[in-house]
Amino acid sequence: MSANQAPGGAVIYRADLALLPGGWTSEAVLEVRADGYFGRVGALAGAESAVRIPGVVVPGVPNAHSHAFQRGLAGRAEKADGSGDDFWGWRNVMYRFVQQLDPEDVEALAAQVYLEMLRAGYTSVAEFHYLHRDRSGASYADPNELTRRILRAAHSVGIRVTLLPTVYVRGGFGDGPLEGGQIRFRMDAEGALEAVREIESSTGGALVHAGLGLHSLRAVGLPEMRAAVAGLAALGSAPYGRVRPVHIHVAEQTGEVRASLRWVGSRPVDYLLDHAPVARNWCLVHATHMSESEVRRVAATRAVAGLCPTTEANLGDGLFRIQEYLAAGGNWAIGSDSQITVAPTDELRTLEYGQRLRLRKRNLIASGLGGRGVHSSGRALLDGAWRGGALALGQEIGALAPGRVADLLVLDPDDPSLVGLAGDDVLDAWVFSGPGAAVRDVMVGGQWVITNGRHGAGEGVTERFRATMKRLA
Ligand SMILES: [Zn+2]
Repeated sequence: MSANQAPGGAVIYRADLALLPGGWTSEAVLEVRADGYFGRVGALAGAESAVRIPGVVVPGVPNAHSHAFQRGLAGRAEKADGSGDDFWGWRNVMYRFVQQLDPEDVEALAAQVYLEMLRAGYTSVAEFHYLHRDRSGASYADPNELTRRILRAAHSVGIRVTLLPTVYVRGGFGDGPLEGGQIRFRMDAEGALEAVREIESSTGGALVHAGLGLHSLRAVGLPEMRAAVAGLAALGSAPYGRVRPVHIHVAEQTGEVRASLRWVGSRPVDYLLDHAPVARNWCLVHATHMSESEVRRVAATRAVAGLCPTTEANLGDGLFRIQEYLAAGGNWAIGSDSQITVAPTDELRTLEYGQRLRLRKRNLIASGLGGRGVHSSGRALLDGAWRGGALALGQEIGALAPGRVADLLVLDPDDPSLVGLAGDDVLDAWVFSGPGAAVRDVMVGGQWVITNGRHGAGEGVTERFRATMKRLA
C-alpha cells in the first residue's frame, strides 16, 4: 500500500470492511493524521482517491502484561523433576535464567518478542519491567540501563509501549531479604519514579507512555507502596494528557493467599483494596484467587483485571472467576506475561476454553454479557480486550475512532480460516480457528510496520535473538 498524502500530511484510507465504533462498515474511510492519530472515520462520501486497504480492518490488540526477557525461557521449563512441579519451582528456574542476562541479551529478547507480538496482532504492550540491576545486584552505571534497552527494543520494531518500572524491595511477606535472582530486581519507590521521568523524556513520542509497577504484595510492603503511588500522583500531568497506570501482580497462587492471611490477616485482594487507592487506572494482574466479595469489590473499582490465560494454564495457577466478574460489570484485559505463547487469539481462546471445560457449556464469555439475541464469542472476547487494554495501558488505543491512535490490523479475507466470512464471523474464526496467520498488515501510530506479513527489521532482530539464545544455552 502506498500512501496518498492529503492536505496537512494526513493519509486517507478506504477499507473494504472495518470495525468502527458504530459497527461493521463497508467501504470505511479512515483518515490517519501525520501525528499518528485518526482524524475523520466513517462511511464518508467523496473519498474515491483514498488508498484502498483490501481486507478486514480491526483495532490492534493491546497486550496488558509482558515480561519481555521471559521469552528466552518459554518452552524451556517443561520437564518434570519429581519435586511436585508448580509455580514456585518454575520461579526458581526463572531466577536462574535471569542471572545469565546482560543488557544486550535483554534487548535482543525483547525485540524478538515484540516482533512476534506485532505479527500475531498485538500493536501495544504494557511491559511490567522488574529486572533492573546487574548480575551482582549492583546498580548499572546508568541505573536505567535496562529501561533504556526495553525502549530501544520497542523502537526497533515499532511497537507501542507503556513501560512500568517496577518496585521490588523484599523477598516475601514478612520483610525477608532478596535472595538468588531477586537481587537483580531491587528498585525502591524513588528509583521507579526516576525511571518514569526518564521514560517520559525519551524520544519515543506518543508511542511511549510510562506507569508504575508494584511487583506484588510479597515484594512491596505498605510503606513502599504508599510512597510510590503518592509519588506518581505528585508527578503531575503526563505527556499527551494521559493517565499513568499502576499495575500489580495479585492473588496468582493459593500459596500467596495463605501467606497473606498469615502475615496481614486478610486475603490479598481485600488487603490491596483496603490499603491502596485502586481505581480505573489500576491493573490487577491475575487476581486468580478471589472470594465472591473480592470479585464484586474489584469490579466496583473499575480497575482492570489483567488476565494471562496461557501463562496461568502453563504455570498451573488456576482459573479466573470470569463469569462472576462479568456479571459484576468488571473490566479486564489480556497479556502474554511469560511469553509461553505470544498471540491475542491464544489468550482469548484459552480464557473461553477454561470456562467451557469447567462448566461443560459453550460460548460462555459472550453469554455472560447477557441481553437477547445472538452474541459472537470472538467479538465479545475482543471487545473486552480492546476496552480493558486501553485502560490498562493508559493510551488512546483499542478503537478505530477520531482522537484514538492509528493502531490497526488488516486480516486477510483470503486466509483459509477466514475465506467467505464477514463481520463478527471473521472474529470468531480468527480467535477459534486456523494457525494464526490471518494478520496480513499491521499499522502502529499511523506507520505500517508489517505489510504482506513482512516486517522490515524482522530478519535482523531474529538473527540477533538466535545468537543470544545459542550463547545462553
Ligand atoms: Zn507477570
